[in-house]
Amino acid sequence: MNILEIIEAKKLGRELTDAEIEFVVTGFTAEAFADYQMSAFLMAVWFRGMTPAETACLTGAMLRSGEELDTGGMSAPTADKHSTGGVGDKVSLLLAPLAAACGLKVPMLSGRGLGHTGGTLDKLEAIPGYRIHMDNDEFLGLTEKVGCAIIGQSGSIAPADGRIYALRDVTATVDCVPLITASIMSKKLAAGPGTIVIDLKTGSGAFMDDLNRARELATALVAVGKLYGRRMSVVFSDMAQPLGRAVGHANETIEAFAALRPGGRDTAPDDLVTLTEDLVGEMVRVAGLEPDPKAALVRVREAWTSGGAFENMLAWVKAQGGELDPDRDDFGLSVAPLIMELESPESGYLSRVQCRQVGLSLADLGGARLTKEDPLDLTAGIDFLPKVGDKLSRGDVLARIYGTDKAKAAAASSRILSALTFSEAPTPANDLILDRYE
Ligand code: URA
Repeated sequence: MNILEIIEAKKLGRELTDAEIEFVVTGFTAEAFADYQMSAFLMAVWFRGMTPAETACLTGAMLRSGEELDTGGMSAPTADKHSTGGVGDKVSLLLAPLAAACGLKVPMLSGRGLGHTGGTLDKLEAIPGYRIHMDNDEFLGLTEKVGCAIIGQSGSIAPADGRIYALRDVTATVDCVPLITASIMSKKLAAGPGTIVIDLKTGSGAFMDDLNRARELATALVAVGKLYGRRMSVVFSDMAQPLGRAVGHANETIEAFAALRPGGRDTAPDDLVTLTEDLVGEMVRVAGLEPDPKAALVRVREAWTSGGAFENMLAWVKAQGGELDPDRDDFGLSVAPLIMELESPESGYLSRVQCRQVGLSLADLGGARLTKEDPLDLTAGIDFLPKVGDKLSRGDVLARIYGTDKAKAAAASSRILSALTFSEAPTPANDLILDRYE
């Protein structure tokens, strides 16, 4: 077997055998052939696609390139959620302690943000002292004891994905359903949860704008997950505007934790509450704790309003070394000063948000990465206030910008403004949950 023949076969559209796919992944991980050959292989896959069997085999080979955690000894069903990423998506910070308060164990491996989308790991780093790295035994031990733990993916989890993703990033081969499926599922399967709920985002702030492509991805993700014995569910959610109000790191963490406080659910943004409850409800239902969807939602709400999820959040963050002051509105996190308020230039209904641009405005402030090496200002942020369909008057505050540099804030403001469309006619609000698949 050699790599040239395999590239040639895929170029011509032949279905590869398991042995050939294994050869590509193990060979590339062991540096047995060159980056340019792997790039050619990835481009051939981009054009020719993969059958479900090939996608499953690729996922398995990437999974076996590293360690797989054993959650078999946990005292309750294990479940995790994966979001395909968006703007203002701080759901994991609420979801993990809430799902734990419902009786699940949640071992969560999270990633960093890139470009217009944020990453849970960066948000957690806004908490002084929070440890994002620990060995697998400590991670599983904490999950069992506290109910949830969130750490960064170490180099030992699906290392083939790290190397392949770096190449895809620079060879225009990221947007390819079999490659995305293998990338996401090799990492998710490695952490060992029995149930995986996918929050598949579509709209102008998602990396997959089109609902039909999102459906294709959902089908592939569910097929692979089930093949590996996991209980799977996909929720398609709207990412055509930021989720909640806060976009940033410290400010998103505060918004998420404040929502969990006793009484916090009533004042938290509706979309954040609804999506979080829906996803946790799915985890509870699919994991078998509460087979009826309505009863699952009731259980989630009780765990939230009783303060159980808030107590779990405090215990989880403390167990990972994080220092929070629950008596303060900002939990003791550092947020940059408010330096600009952006006012509506006209009256009318907000009819469209180019959500990706709102995410990029955080990069203007120094709070998001355009390349993997960029440093991050975790204190910078934006509160984006209106939702599509809202009626606005000229002079209403659209956004509050937190930062340290007026010129950067001005750049962020004009980017946000150019991302908004107003209409004279009433515009319907966006649907938040667009569809489901399992
Ligand atoms: N997220 C991943 O982890 N991998 C992809 O390929 C795309 C999104």
